[in-house]
Order: sequence, then structure tokens, then C-alpha cells
Amino acid sequence: MLSRRALFSGQHGALIRPPWTSEISIRNACTGCGDCVAACPEAILFSGPANTPVVSFESGECSFCEACVEACTEPVFDLGEPAWKIRAEISDSCILKVGVSCRLCTDICEVEALVFDLSQRPVGAVSVNRDLCNGCGACVAACTFSAISITEPQHD
Ligand code: SF4
Ligand code: SF4
Ligand code: SF4
Repeated sequence: MLSRRALFSGQHGALIRPPWTSEISIRNACTGCGDCVAACPEAILFSGPANTPVVSFESGECSFCEACVEACTEPVFDLGEPAWKIRAEISDSCILKVGVSCRLCTDICEVEALVFDLSQRPVGAVSVNRDLCNGCGACVAACTFSAISITEPQHD
């Protein structure tokens, strides 16, 4: 069973915060009122440390509806910035790596950021185009083998 922190964390352990926010903006301005958590129609926001909002993609994805932004009366969100730098990452748990066919994640990615390479034998391989991925998290729950996580970029 995942720990509560692991549930809301990317692969490298950092909490995933709501779109258009940062650890710094939350630390500086979030009152922990919970209004963004209640407003999220996808129910992917939860109350984390000191009631500040954290994201879990275990049962849903971000639709970028901006309901959380509209609900917040404090200067936590900044629509002038990209929603996220987080991106999908595929682990060695991907079932393709043991020769079993699967297209669960590629079929669900609306921006076609999950690239299927049929030339890889015997059943193909999936990789993430990090320039196309918007961090929506839809592929996380789609993968029944828990092979996809959401991570912060490592070099920018
Ligand atoms: S943009 Fe919409 S779906 Fe995404 S976290 Fe905010 S309220 Fe939820
Ligand atoms: S609505 Fe704003 S102040 Fe309230 S918990 Fe969410 S981010 Fe914090
Ligand atoms: S996080 Fe969203 S955009 Fe990125 S690969 Fe997964 S489904 Fe596609």
C-alpha cells in the first residue's frame, strides 16, 4: 500500500501541486482554505500538508478547466505561467518490455505524446514525447500495470 505522501508525489518524491502553482506560491500565499480542492470537478485535488492542495492522478486527470484558479482568492495561481513542468515517465514495469502487447496508454493520450514504436521487437515500445506531454496525468490511471508516473523535469 502506498504511503499518503507517495500517493501525492511524483516519482522523485516531490509533492505534485495544482496547475499554475508552485511550492513557493503555495508556501507564501495559501491559507489552506480548501476551496480549490472542493472546486475541482475531476476530484484530483486533495488536502495535503497544512491543508495545502496536492494532486493525485490515481483516479483522474486534469482537464485544465481552471476551476481551481477561479476558486482561489489568494495569489497562489498564475495563469501567465505554463500549467506544469511535470511530464509522464514510463518505468520498466511496462508490460511491453516482457513481450506482452498493450496499447492502454497510447489510446488515452489526447495530445499523442505517447509514441508507439512498432519497430521494437517483439511487440513494440512506448516512449514519452516530453515536448508534447502536458502533464495531464490521464495515462497514470490508464496503465493497469502502474508503469507510468508523473515527474518533474530533471534539467530545466
Ligand atoms: S484545472 Fe480543473 S481539473 Fe485541473 S486541478 Fe484545477 S480544477 Fe482540477
Ligand atoms: S483555494 Fe487557494 S488559498 Fe485556498 S487552499 Fe486552494 S490554493 Fe490555498
Ligand atoms: S500525462 Fe497526459 S499528455 Fe502526458 S503522456 Fe500522459 S496522457 Fe499524454
